Formats: sequence, C-alpha cells, structure tokens
Amino acid sequence: MSILLTTLNARYTHASLGLRYLLANMGELQSQTRLQEFVIGAKTTEIVERILAHAPRIVGFGIYIWNVEETARVVAMLKRVAPQVTVVLGGPEVSHETNEQEIVKLADYVVTGWGDVTFPKLCGEILNGPKPLMKVHAGVQPPMAEIKLPYSLYTDDDIKNRTLYVEASRGCPFKCEFCLSALDKTAWPFALDSFLAEMESLYQRGARLFKFVDRTFNLNIKTSLKIMQFFLDKLEAHPDDPVYAHFELVPDHLPDALKEGIAKFPPGALQFEIGIQSFNPAVQTLVSRKQDNQKAADNIRWLTTQSHAHMHVDLIAGLPGETVESFAEGFNKLWALEPHEIQFGILKRLRGTPIIRHTQEYGMVYDPYPPYTILANKDIDFSTMQRLVRFARYWDLVANSGRFGHTLPVLLGGQPFQRFMAFSDWLYANTDATHRIALERLVAMVARYLQTQGMDKDDAEALLASDYAGAKPKAAETPAPKRQARRLAA
Ligand code: SF4
Repeated sequence: MSILLTTLNARYTHASLGLRYLLANMGELQSQTRLQEFVIGAKTTEIVERILAHAPRIVGFGIYIWNVEETARVVAMLKRVAPQVTVVLGGPEVSHETNEQEIVKLADYVVTGWGDVTFPKLCGEILNGPKPLMKVHAGVQPPMAEIKLPYSLYTDDDIKNRTLYVEASRGCPFKCEFCLSALDKTAWPFALDSFLAEMESLYQRGARLFKFVDRTFNLNIKTSLKIMQFFLDKLEAHPDDPVYAHFELVPDHLPDALKEGIAKFPPGALQFEIGIQSFNPAVQTLVSRKQDNQKAADNIRWLTTQSHAHMHVDLIAGLPGETVESFAEGFNKLWALEPHEIQFGILKRLRGTPIIRHTQEYGMVYDPYPPYTILANKDIDFSTMQRLVRFARYWDLVANSGRFGHTLPVLLGGQPFQRFMAFSDWLYANTDATHRIALERLVAMVARYLQTQGMDKDDAEALLASDYAGAKPKAAETPAPKRQARRLAA
C-alpha cells in the first residue's frame, strides 16, 4: 500500500468528510490508498504503530485546530522511527500562516486550501517523480463538477454508528472577520441532482442522520427547498422510520417559501444551528458581519413558535468592542427568544482570519496555543474573561444539557446573564472545578445555591427533583418543557 490518509477526529462518532473527499478524488492512485481515522486522546505510540502497520510510503494527515498539537507529536515520532515515510499535511489549520508552524517544520509537504486535485497530483510526483521541489503547495480549486462526491465511501459501519457529514455547497459569501469562511468570498454549490442522488443512496443504505456542513444552508432558497423536500418526502413515506437533518442558517434570511417548508417538518426531524454571534451593531460593523438584528430576532421567534425545529444559536464573547454589559444585553435578548440552546462561544483567533487587524487597537490578547482563545482585550480583563469561560462551561452543563428544564427559569429570573454569572461565580468558588462535576453533585450544588438566594430547602429540592428523574422517578411523568428538548445530533 502506498498512501495512507489519516486524521485525529475529535470523537469517534465524527467521520471525516475531508479524508473521504481525498480518497474519492485519488484517481488512478485510489487503489493504492487507504483511510484510517483515530480519535484525539489515543496514545501517540499506538497511532504511529497502527499507521506503520499499513507500510505506507506517504501518509497524508488532516490537520485541524483540535488535533494539531497531538498530530505534531505523531508526525515527530513517525519521522523518527520511519524517516523514509513521506508526510504530507493538509486541512484548515495548516492552510494559513503555514511556514511558522511547528508541525509544518516536521513534515515533508503541505497542501493548503482545497486538496481534491493537488493532493493526488503531489502524491503522484512523490511516488513517480520528478520529486516536488516546493514544500508548500497551494491547493488548486477545480470546477465543482470535477470533484468526485465521497458519500459512497461511508461504510455500513459509519452509516450505523457515526454522524454523516454532507455538503451541498462549499464556501460562504459573508466576511465575518473571526471566521475562516470569510476568506472564501463566495459559495460554490455542487450539482444538486448528483448531490441528492448521493443522499438517496445513503438513505437507502440506512442513513437517518444527515449533518450539513454548508456554512449557509439558506443562501439559495430554491436549493434549500429542494433539499428540504427530499427529507420531507422520506418523512412522509416512512413516518415510523424518521430521518433527521441538521443545517446551519443565517438568521435574517427566511423568506416565506422557506418558512412553509420548515413548518412541515414534524418534531425531532430538523435542527438548525444559527449564528447570531453578537446583537451589538457596533461590534457587527467592526467585524464586518452583516446582520439585520430585527429580522434575525423575528425569525428566531418564528422558528420557536411556528416550527418544530430544534434550535442551537451561537453567540461569541470577546469580540472587539463587545463589553461584558453589551454581551449581557445580547445574551438576555437571545434568551427571551427562547432558542433550545445558546452556544456561548469564546472568541478564537483562527489562523488566517482577518480579525487580527483589531489586535492593537482593541488590545486583543490570544492564547498562542490552539485553539488560540482570547485571554483579554481592552474591554474585558483576563480574570473577567475567565469568568466568562466558566459561564460558558457551566451553561453547557446546566442549560444546554437540558437536565434542569424546570429549575433553569427559576435560577435565571428576569436577568439571565447576570443571574447565571452570579451562579457561575458561586459554583466555581464552591467546587473549584469546571469539568468533571458529577450530575448528582451538580444537582446538590444548584439546590444549595437556590437556598443562598432565599429559597426554602424543601422547595429547592422539590424543584430539582422535578428535573432529576434519578432522585424521584415521578419526575419522568412531567412533560419536558420546550427548552429541555435535547440535541439529537452529536
Ligand atoms: S460566520 Fe457564518 S456567515 Fe460569517 S463568514 Fe463565517 S460562515 Fe459565513
């Protein structure tokens, strides 16, 4: 075997779409190419041993923000024990600021940007000569029709046990400066009929959970409608064997035709990830994010009241010009719209993103190590930023987990951000932990906190028991409130 494609996924359930694209587009080298995925946290020696068990001449690694540090250790060990193996890197993390990266120094070659054409070409040159002279190869972007779709490479095991990532388009026409897709300038659709034929074949093979990675699913409404119709037809034909789809939406673009389609989906079939990021117009202008806040809010409200879609809405703390107060205002505004989950993200300086232009003026200080999280800026000092980081972590445990559906509204009162921040500060002071808080302990801590806020002990415990089925089985009979609906996708 000549070529091994590999990566370290964040979880076993995440099947790498990027590697499958490469394999699908290897051309005459495909028969000599294999794919093997690992999961972060695996032992470096074991990964290297399993890579070498394929006796590859070339190993292509997919490098992402979540795996770059561990992969660097794998590459370093691999080059020590098997220096004859050629290492080629690709993926978003090595596509920008390439030459200054430690992992790049360890590797033989790098393909930046799109690898579909350039990676097989480079492999051909490595195997058959002439030996490529340049270390860094800028990926050539072919016409979309020339890219072979990779979906048949999902194995039956993938279909049964893992999240299937699919994309009807690549790229994004918007330019939000904190986002890597800001560099795309536009979006490129795949031919819709071929794409839907692949989805049909996945469906026939048993796939029921489709996660679209298109950056803006609702960009071209005609296309969005056709894709949604594909799923609606399946749901109508087999209501007892439902299919489930996840899409990313821009929030201020939901024409009536699309709303009509969305409204037809039954509960549990549709999930939207919606980026609000900030409700602050001054911040939006600073980071070149174009968003009609009123329309966005109206659409989220419409989705929560008129559709069964499960909604996961993103906000980012730490953006230039965003104070804690203005972030809190946006958070409270979003909470009032009742999405099922608020994803409280902390700004990260992704390599290559234009947000770097604000570094001096806004005093942006980022962690130099992945994932390059903001540590402080002109408006939020380091310790306050850490309070926000803990807020985000606890918010996941308490709010997004869906485990405290009855307790959460009581905990938050009319001032969700301020009340949860106070709870978060208290919880940290009393547990000294942000991870590994066992559920039973968390339940007890929430009950204790409510008592510090004046709630009677019995009332607090009864409230928690109504959420915590383990404490009182009767709670299972209580219908889950809307916010308690859990994310179905990984
Ligand atoms: S944040 Fe969303 S809308 Fe903005 S550039 Fe990135 S993908 Fe596009």
